[in-house]
Amino acid sequence: MLSGRPLRAVHHPLFGRHEPWRPHVEDSSRYRAVARAVSAAEAALGDQLTVAAPHVATRDDLLRLHTAGYVDHVLALMGEQAALDHETLLSEDSVEAALAGAGSCIEAAEAIMAAEVDRVVVLPRPPGHHAEADRAMGFCVFGNAALAAEAALRAGAGRVLVVDFDVHHGNGTEALLAHLPAAGTVSFHSERLFPQDTGDEASDSARAIWNRPLGARADGETLLRTVARFLEREGAAFDPELLIVAAGFDGHADDAMSEWQVSTEEYAVLLTLLRDFAERHCAGRMLVTLEGGYDPMALEECVLAMLKVLA
Ligand SMILES: [Zn+2]
Repeated sequence: MLSGRPLRAVHHPLFGRHEPWRPHVEDSSRYRAVARAVSAAEAALGDQLTVAAPHVATRDDLLRLHTAGYVDHVLALMGEQAALDHETLLSEDSVEAALAGAGSCIEAAEAIMAAEVDRVVVLPRPPGHHAEADRAMGFCVFGNAALAAEAALRAGAGRVLVVDFDVHHGNGTEALLAHLPAAGTVSFHSERLFPQDTGDEASDSARAIWNRPLGARADGETLLRTVARFLEREGAAFDPELLIVAAGFDGHADDAMSEWQVSTEEYAVLLTLLRDFAERHCAGRMLVTLEGGYDPMALEECVLAMLKVLA
């Protein structure tokens, strides 16, 4: 348990009302898994954890990184069932949920930079790291982590680093922030799993874009070693004032989404590494947003472990 102020988690039933209208891996069972984890964390952590309600993003908030054409297209689908692409489906409450996810990430970045809180974990559905400026992709509607990074820069951060350890490449986050070298991105993912044409090995320090693809059957030890090496070298050299983590747990050994073999305990060690990096370089400032994780039991365990590490 860390000293100082309590961890803030942003969690709300609205995130459970986004429900793809045909059988889908990104369904409300994920919300229920997160809700069980938050309840268990509240019981275990007492006043070291506060659970906060979401903030809703405005159209102007989204226009900072998304195109007007795309934002207006999505907003017009509020209250309707629709498909943004073949696998990113909207139910009646999905747009409201997506706005709450994006707005909560933006507000969390502002609250951390205003020194109201040190660490925030946002637990939104739908996730965000595949969404690009003008389109939804891979179950993601708005670029939650990227919007948080941009908000942090406007709130005075000199440099922000987004670390994405979802098993899929954080293509949207990378693309949305590519014009902002003060907002660095690094993604650790299974090589060319999804998208199949982005995320190849990259070390572009001038633009602050790094990619560290791993093999299809990578284990937790390999992931931990690769993340630790990046943080010690490129991460430390970049020296951000805020660490943003796009946390996807779909590389878990029990998750059918990939063949990665990461255990719950190894994800807890990974979050500890990231927390310690934030302590050393960012005065403890850390914002986590949930991305993937499709085995409900593994997701529940990993979210609980994450909240315990960060509280
Ligand atoms: Zn994923």
